Amino acid sequence: MVDQDYPAPQLFIAGRWIDAVGRDTLPVLNPATGDEIGRVPVATTADLDEALDAAAKGFRVWRRMSAIDRSAILRRAANLLRERAPVLGRLTTLEQGKPIAQAIMEMAGCGEYFDWFAEEGRRAYGRVVPSRQPGVRHLVIPEPIGPVAAFTPWNFPATIPSRKIGAALGAGCSMVIKPAEETPWSALALARALDDAGLPKGVLNVVFGIPADISTYLITSPIIRKVTFTGSTAIGKQLARLAADRMKPATMELGGHAPVLIFDDADLDTAVAMMMAAKFRNAGQICIAPTRFYLQNSIHDRFCTAFSAAASRLIIGNGMDSTVQMGPLANPRRVPALTSMISDAVAAGATLACGGNPVSNAGFFLQPTVLTNVPDTARIMSEEPFGPVIVTQSFDDLDDAIAKANRLPFGLASYAFTRSAKIMRALGDEVETGMIGINFPVLTGPETPFGGVKDSGHGSDGGPEALAGCMVNKYIVEG
Ligand code: NAD
Repeated sequence: MVDQDYPAPQLFIAGRWIDAVGRDTLPVLNPATGDEIGRVPVATTADLDEALDAAAKGFRVWRRMSAIDRSAILRRAANLLRERAPVLGRLTTLEQGKPIAQAIMEMAGCGEYFDWFAEEGRRAYGRVVPSRQPGVRHLVIPEPIGPVAAFTPWNFPATIPSRKIGAALGAGCSMVIKPAEETPWSALALARALDDAGLPKGVLNVVFGIPADISTYLITSPIIRKVTFTGSTAIGKQLARLAADRMKPATMELGGHAPVLIFDDADLDTAVAMMMAAKFRNAGQICIAPTRFYLQNSIHDRFCTAFSAAASRLIIGNGMDSTVQMGPLANPRRVPALTSMISDAVAAGATLACGGNPVSNAGFFLQPTVLTNVPDTARIMSEEPFGPVIVTQSFDDLDDAIAKANRLPFGLASYAFTRSAKIMRALGDEVETGMIGINFPVLTGPETPFGGVKDSGHGSDGGPEALAGCMVNKYIVEG
């Protein structure tokens, strides 16, 4: 596929596909070339009002439909996504940059989310509570909370919307979603599959625009009953405040700065191989990407040498080339954001073991980068780099490692490598984190919880917890 084959992005409101005519537009760039490949329409206030009205009406239809009928539609959409994944994955690579195999896998994986939430919605059972009085019945009935407003980023431009859409629709809610303007088709493809699968009009509405304008408008609307966001902690706090003022629950999946604790009894080859894959997938633009590598004194240098050698061998380039292992960063602002963090770390006393530079003039590429012995005063030790960069320090013992892991306000994902059952137990108990992978990367999937603690947010985008997050319990007493 060439860039001319990138279809014009649209809005999807009340079951209608709406093109950009008569509306402002924002550019969509191919991050591998820097070229503009399309323009995404900016929703007007009238569009947003129509989307909200459609979500209110769509909710009334969808919540009354039986769980098994809702499930059938989600499952049909899941099958369509799997069938279409090879074509849709190419759109994701064009607009986001990730290697084509990763993009196709992402699209097919969205089907897994729809399938799982389709089935989980059929098991939203509620309970009957034994009564203290004869002849009285106590029922606890879970109900869909209502229309949900969702805001999703550009790094997993299909997966993240699919989780939020799957949970909301599986629970019987309707939704207005504003995916990232940089990557519109990855999310529109999900709406297209649901539309083709027979989703009633208005149950899902997709809009684009200036993020702060759209989120303020939607969150403050009385129609919206729940807010869900994935993105930076700073923006998450703004949106959570808007939601809290209107007493709306919010799921916030925010920034991380994942520590990796590698003890001197660990299998280093396995640690290098697993952390290479986890770090450089999607050019490190992953909220759970391993970043702060704390290495026990005696193995620090050995690990850094092996990891830097492996990182330097990665094949970087346009994700459309199937031999490429790491694509560009997703947008132009990420390259200076990262190079400035790297030079700040070197100025603070870190050693640049490999990488550190943009790769070419065209596109938004950065070399895989390893910074060793980085002092805590460097900005990158506290700010999430969100790119293909790791930082290292050495540690003395278990207590020192845990203190280092917990020193930031973030708590999304953490990693550790050790053969000691005692250390594993201590890490499970003491590391302040939403998810921890011990001798294995943190795996994300529909059936497991996905979310953080502390400044990394609250709520879950996976597992039964995500469905419960879109429901409220009603207590009914029958005399
Ligand atoms: P950003 O904070 O400007 O935007 C992040 C995402 O939030 C984008 O998709 C953007 O469209 C959206 N957004 C921004 N302001 C918004 C608002 N007021 N209302 C609704 N949505 C809004 O940052 P960026 O330059 O795009 O990315 C930089 C940082 O964002 C990264 O360093 C990382 O910390 C964070 N980020 C996190 C994730 C994640 O998966 N948790 C994904 C993308 C970006």
